[in-house]
Amino acid sequence: MITGACLCGDVSYEIEGKISPIWLCHCSKCRRSTGSAFHASAVVSPDRFRWVTGEGGIREYEDTPRYKTRFCGRCGSPVPSYLEAFDLVFLHAGGLDGDPGRSVVHHIFVGSKAPWLELSDTHPQYEEHKPPQA
Ligand SMILES: [Zn+2]
Ligand SMILES: [Zn+2]
Repeated sequence: MITGACLCGDVSYEIEGKISPIWLCHCSKCRRSTGSAFHASAVVSPDRFRWVTGEGGIREYEDTPRYKTRFCGRCGSPVPSYLEAFDLVFLHAGGLDGDPGRSVVHHIFVGSKAPWLELSDTHPQYEEHKPPQA
């Protein structure tokens, strides 16, 4: 069982079995919404994801119809969200506890990467999007 939570702990969740490999998104929206160089993302099928606490305290911000963020209403941490278009739950790998048994496989949107970040690993880099796969 993989578990995860927001910074304050109000929102928590659990995942049965494995998550997808992790990818890093360098798009400008992910950089703004996380305040970081990139967003560490993964997905899992909805039947293996379960909220444990705090689902009612989640807030949502819709930047565009294609880019929504969901976060804890108390501490602001990004929390998982359901992606209707793919029938997958989108995860924030940094919110997971311990070792989820997966590691980073590639970078996306390196075309809009922060100019102050140098990528020094050997993972494939995609200029733009690569659709998520569970
Ligand atoms: Zn919180
Ligand atoms: Zn992004």
